Amino acid sequence: MADGEFDLIRRHFSRPAPPGVLGVGDDCALLPTQPGAMAISTDLLVEGRHFFSDVDPAALGHKSLAVNLSDLAAMGAQPAGFVLGLALPRIDHDFLAGFARGMYALADRHACPLIGGDTTRGQDGIVISITIFGTVAPDDALRRDGARPDDDIWVSGCLGDADIALRLLLGEDAFPPGADRSALLAATRRALEWPEPRLALGQGLRGVACAALDISDGLLQDLGHVLTASGVGARVDADAVPVSPAVAALPVPLRRLAALSGGDVYELCFTAAPGSRARVIAAAAAAGVPVTRIGQITAAPGLRLVDASGDPIDPLPHGGYDHFA
Ligand code: ADP
Ligand code: MG
Repeated sequence: MADGEFDLIRRHFSRPAPPGVLGVGDDCALLPTQPGAMAISTDLLVEGRHFFSDVDPAALGHKSLAVNLSDLAAMGAQPAGFVLGLALPRIDHDFLAGFARGMYALADRHACPLIGGDTTRGQDGIVISITIFGTVAPDDALRRDGARPDDDIWVSGCLGDADIALRLLLGEDAFPPGADRSALLAATRRALEWPEPRLALGQGLRGVACAALDISDGLLQDLGHVLTASGVGARVDADAVPVSPAVAALPVPLRRLAALSGGDVYELCFTAAPGSRARVIAAAAAAGVPVTRIGQITAAPGLRLVDASGDPIDPLPHGGYDHFA
């Protein structure tokens, strides 16, 4: 983007890095290394696919970083810094200022500095790529392959709000006639646009949880990754999955679909031995995040879904999000 590119970086993305870090401005950033392992994750956000063109730019800046911080949270890692790739069809300083504001506010809260990036003119639509770096002792990392038979399955927060907000914004017809769509959107939209990465909880679960991930594509699909990686199965009580009052008031099939298969959640799903319940609850209280037990890991493979009275629910609601499905 020639001159405009450097002006853009200077105006919006050149805050000084913390002491000891060489940030934006040189060919590479220099991030001091620590003993242990570096946790690294990357996410792409594409206009029209991951966000609406008219989204609040501050919310977009927040969410672009939040989904990456959520990956660190799911590993129990501590944020160290991130780099930002941007492809922009045009330079819009109002958009960039809002984006930077939302992004830096979240970065500051988690002491996760922006240390570099790349900026280029794109074709149609904005593309945002963030790669994040964190630290964790390898033996402490909350991996997907550590679940064991009889572990409890837990989730943080409430599930389903983001899915309902997305259905409303897409104008879907899934709601009962007479439903107050604008009240429902007001109650659920924040979960979609301003997800809160659960870093304190993830870090507090080190040495307590056996396996963990963040729910991005839907609980059932994401829990399936833990089951496959760990070589186990699970029994999940569909009606124990925590939902907000707004989602709880929806008809049961829609509520279950949103809670079990809705994506864009960024809550943690984790397993822990039944003997660790008090430690899980203490970690959640220290992090200020509610956690709920929703089922058990089984030696028998497969995921069995039951209702509140223990009767199987069949068939499963359709799976989570798959970009190529
Ligand atoms: P190079 O030519 O080495 O790729 P650039 O001219 O692209 O370097 O970038 C100049 C500096 O600005 C680098 O330090 C780079 O990390 C930083 N930078 C470029 N784009 C961004 C961005 N979107 N966010 C943060 N830093 C950026
Ligand atoms: Mg460059």
